[in-house]
Amino acid sequence: MTKKEMMDIIVERIKNCKACPLHENRTNVVPGEGNLDSPIMFVGEGPGEDEDLSGRPFVGRAGQLLTKILESVNIKREDVYITNIVKCRPPNNRTPTKEEASICSHYLFAQIEVINPRMIVTLGKPALELFLGKSVAITKVRGNEFEWKGGIIIFPMFHPSYLLRNPSKAKGSPKDLTWQDIKRVRKYYDQFLKERENG
Ligand code: SF4
Repeated sequence: MTKKEMMDIIVERIKNCKACPLHENRTNVVPGEGNLDSPIMFVGEGPGEDEDLSGRPFVGRAGQLLTKILESVNIKREDVYITNIVKCRPPNNRTPTKEEASICSHYLFAQIEVINPRMIVTLGKPALELFLGKSVAITKVRGNEFEWKGGIIIFPMFHPSYLLRNPSKAKGSPKDLTWQDIKRVRKYYDQFLKERENG
């Protein structure tokens, strides 16, 4: 089976999923999108209103900022794979509960198995906590690297919606730190592509 065929099966399951209460208010499921061969995946928390309406991840204001952040280091959003922990919109954009995240995350883990990335960039605290299995202060750990199953690098960055609430670009501000972080992601991206080229 090709990666696309495997991902299509996961997406079909998500579309029919009623495993947690978040299915009750969804307009569309938001499984994720992008390059199934990308060495890097981006994982956020959950779909917002624009995402629920369109069925696509990170297309609202925060998503447009993420697109700009990627473009600032010449990565197109379609070059990488972008998704969330939960695939249905939590009411009023609240954080998914631990239970919802735990139920839905088996889709995310299946997607990770299909894509087989070298690095997962987590956007915001809930996504990082899912991988680390413990509570963390994102302001303290962003830009650090963690190792996850099979040697995948987990690289936490701020969620773009946090950057919208903290627009300062002063040295040491969340936006400034994000600029440092995305430059590191770019370096890793180049390294991964080069390693793939060299077999
Ligand atoms: S959020 Fe995930 S587990 Fe809950 S209904 Fe949607 S797809 Fe199913």
